[in-house]
Amino acid sequence: MARFLAEEHRIFREVFRRYLRTEVVPHFKAWEDERRVPRSFWRDCGAQGFLCPWVSPEYGGGGGDFGYSYVILDEVGHAGLTLNLTLHSDVVVPYLDSYATPEKKREWLTGCVSGDIITAIAMTEPGAGSDLQAVTTTAVRDGDSYVVNGQKIFITNGMDCDLVVVACRTDNKVAGIKSLSLIVVEAGTPGFVKARQLDKMGMHSDPNAELVFADCRVPASNLLGEENAAFKYLMAHLQRERLLIVLQAQSLAERILELSLDYAKKRVAFGRPIGLFQHNQFKLAEMATEVALGRSFLDDLVQEFLDGNDIVTRVSMAKWWVTEMLNRLAYQGVQLHGGYGYMEEFEICRLYRDARLLTIGGGTTEIMKLSIAKRMAL
Ligand SMILES: Cc1cc2nc3c(=O)[nH]c(=O)nc-3n(C[C@H](O)[C@H](O)[C@H](O)COP(=O)(O)OP(=O)(O)OC[C@H]3O[C@@H](n4cnc5c(N)ncnc54)[C@H](O)[C@@H]3O)c2cc1C
Repeated sequence: MARFLAEEHRIFREVFRRYLRTEVVPHFKAWEDERRVPRSFWRDCGAQGFLCPWVSPEYGGGGGDFGYSYVILDEVGHAGLTLNLTLHSDVVVPYLDSYATPEKKREWLTGCVSGDIITAIAMTEPGAGSDLQAVTTTAVRDGDSYVVNGQKIFITNGMDCDLVVVACRTDNKVAGIKSLSLIVVEAGTPGFVKARQLDKMGMHSDPNAELVFADCRVPASNLLGEENAAFKYLMAHLQRERLLIVLQAQSLAERILELSLDYAKKRVAFGRPIGLFQHNQFKLAEMATEVALGRSFLDDLVQEFLDGNDIVTRVSMAKWWVTEMLNRLAYQGVQLHGGYGYMEEFEICRLYRDARLLTIGGGTTEIMKLSIAKRMAL
């Protein structure tokens, strides 16, 4: 157990693991096929205290520390699952908690904790992904409202979200990121259209969406924090978000190692288990080494984060290395499974597809390397 986790986290882990095993794993294939996780799952997670465990009891949360968020994501990965609980609980809701007005917090946070409100964050546009300076969605102040116009793409939880935090340009005279603001748009607001569900390579149970805002009028009080301060807010939260992506990749890599070891012991070829061939032993030894290095780096980083240290460079290193490592393991895991690895009924097949996203979402491998290089005084 990581040194920043305590006995109560261990107990919580047991409870959550059991919940995943009995209430999620048996249904997950159906959710993937349906391209959707049912609403009832979100509410059930809320009722059990698995959403936003860190939110203050004032808003219905458990007031827990980062350890609970860590345990949830770790267990989801170890179960071989990809669920968007963390994006909601630990990426989007923190923006509401930090920057929404007290009235809006009262209006939104309780629902976020109970699972009645599902959230999303929309920064990426068809012409602006890595380069947020290119965002063209606008929010123009008009009396007590903002009028939002623009298009967002690839938005996780997009089809199901009840509210979405949208990166908008609020000052057309200033170019780049200095004129970006974060504005909350609620589902059902006229002019907010969930235009289409995207057909993607993996992570099928997440209904990713293209969102359109056409003269969409929202109350001015839906602005998070101050106008034109989005970049500051994004930077303040980004390290935590990247740390969580690293954890997701790490726990999935551990799952792949477990599946591969298990298969290598059972599958017989040329009269013996394939795990007895030296080539496969070397491959499994390499996989186990990479997984151990990743976990050790990750847990050190979490400790540094909890100590309040600047982890920008090291979290960028971890984000690219661990997500690329996951993909190496996924490739090797399929190879060890032979033809069965190519079959959807084998978990490794799905994990191979799902893994591919993690070197792209939340900042690509190349952007992580740029961020590291920037701090090398080259
Ligand atoms: C399944 C999925 C879920 C997502 N969920 C969300 C979400 O919820 N909210 C959201 O806002 N976004 C989301 N995204 C978007 C994601 O964050 C972007 O796809 C990602 O940031 C990359 O942006 P892009 O796709 O525009 O690629 P681009 O920025 O066009 O990059 C294309 C390629 O060029 C490389 N590149 C770009 N700039 C440089 C450079 N300066 N130097 C070297 N190489 C460079 C990139 O690394 C990449 O390999 C999601 C994407 C996917 C696929």
